[in-house]
Amino acid sequence: MLRSLKNIADDLAGKRVIVRCDLNVPLKEGVITDDGRIRASLPTIRALSDAGAKVIVVSHLGRPEGSPVEKYSLAPVAFRLEELLGQPVVFAADTVGPQAKAATKLLEHGGVVLLENLRFNPGEASKDETERQSFAEQLATYGDLLVSNGFGVVHRKQASVYELAKLLPSYAGDLVELEVSVLEKLTEQAQRPYTVVLGGAKVSDKLGVIEHLLPKVDKIVIGGGMVFTVLAAQGHDVAASLLEADQLNVVRNFFSQAADLGVEIVLPTDVVVASGFSPDASFETVPANEIANSSFGAAGMGLDIGPESARAFAEAIASSKTVFWNGPMGVFEFANFAGGTRAVAQALTEVNGLAVVGGGDSAAAVRALGFEESAFGHISTGGGASLEYLEGKSLPGLEVLND
Ligand code: ADP
Ligand code: MG
Repeated sequence: MLRSLKNIADDLAGKRVIVRCDLNVPLKEGVITDDGRIRASLPTIRALSDAGAKVIVVSHLGRPEGSPVEKYSLAPVAFRLEELLGQPVVFAADTVGPQAKAATKLLEHGGVVLLENLRFNPGEASKDETERQSFAEQLATYGDLLVSNGFGVVHRKQASVYELAKLLPSYAGDLVELEVSVLEKLTEQAQRPYTVVLGGAKVSDKLGVIEHLLPKVDKIVIGGGMVFTVLAAQGHDVAASLLEADQLNVVRNFFSQAADLGVEIVLPTDVVVASGFSPDASFETVPANEIANSSFGAAGMGLDIGPESARAFAEAIASSKTVFWNGPMGVFEFANFAGGTRAVAQALTEVNGLAVVGGGDSAAAVRALGFEESAFGHISTGGGASLEYLEGKSLPGLEVLND
């Protein structure tokens, strides 16, 4: 059982509470294009503030690799958080520097401060345990307790997620509790047929999970950027499409395992190939084994699944009783390449059972394409974290919150 913030709700007045959130929102030229993760974090922040706690919000944004990078600043998030919360949010432009120290010291009962991107400090995501520990010790000086509410990072052994949770009395926030309760349903009472739909761009991360999911599901549907490595493993020339050549053996392994287990792998039969990576690129639909023979030749880039594939994917999804989807089917940010993602999202809304969308960009995609959040069983803020949970792995950021 996770230690719950609810257990200490009466004892928060005046307490300094660090809240680890996942405010890793998509940004375009400094403008937040989807604020879903900020909204999902609000109930816990608000509850703490209402209870009179001094609230210190911490998060990461993107992968700045341990030093300050302007485009990964949380400053725009502080503005949005303030608007949504309807109360002032002080932004400290460092994490363990003079601004954060002063801002956390000056906090009043119910006040909220947001510190700069944790990953601007090398200690946050360091592979070296002692480096993480020492960063966590510095963070711990700000708080009397930690509320862990960044579901999207609970699969990471990082300073603010893991070491900090051991240093301070730590509790799961509302969002982590909600996410875990949905994932429990997917693992413990999954009705069959059970289908997992995978796409997106983090190719090697996601190809790795397929092998672990195979024993648990009936069908795996694959699209998005990762599918080109799969098509390449089948011997097709994918021209300039996204390809991770060092993953071909991983793919061959899961194919043979899928055959042994009788799991169906559903792949696109047609692909939308573009002249380049741009919203106004020329494009045409070709069979999945003819990508290199489009009129763009070797420069052709697969940016979406084709309409025939979209229909087949939709059918596989809508006929399932349990569906988990992570990763857009194409570059949905460009209107011409959003068709596959739209078809898959639509099919999820038609599932007679439990349909869950997970992942920052996948969640952003369904909202950007105009779907009502209520049309899905659940929209999870975590992609990688959800997948690892479904694989049956133990997640360090949850483990430390367990009694
Ligand atoms: P999530 O955040 O939901 O876990 P990812 O971060 O793995 O998803 O992937 C999302 C990104 O994948 C999107 O920005 C989308 O543009 C990109 N993507 C999808 N299909 C392709 C493709 N065929 N080529 C390149 N990028 C793609
Ligand atoms: Mg993403």
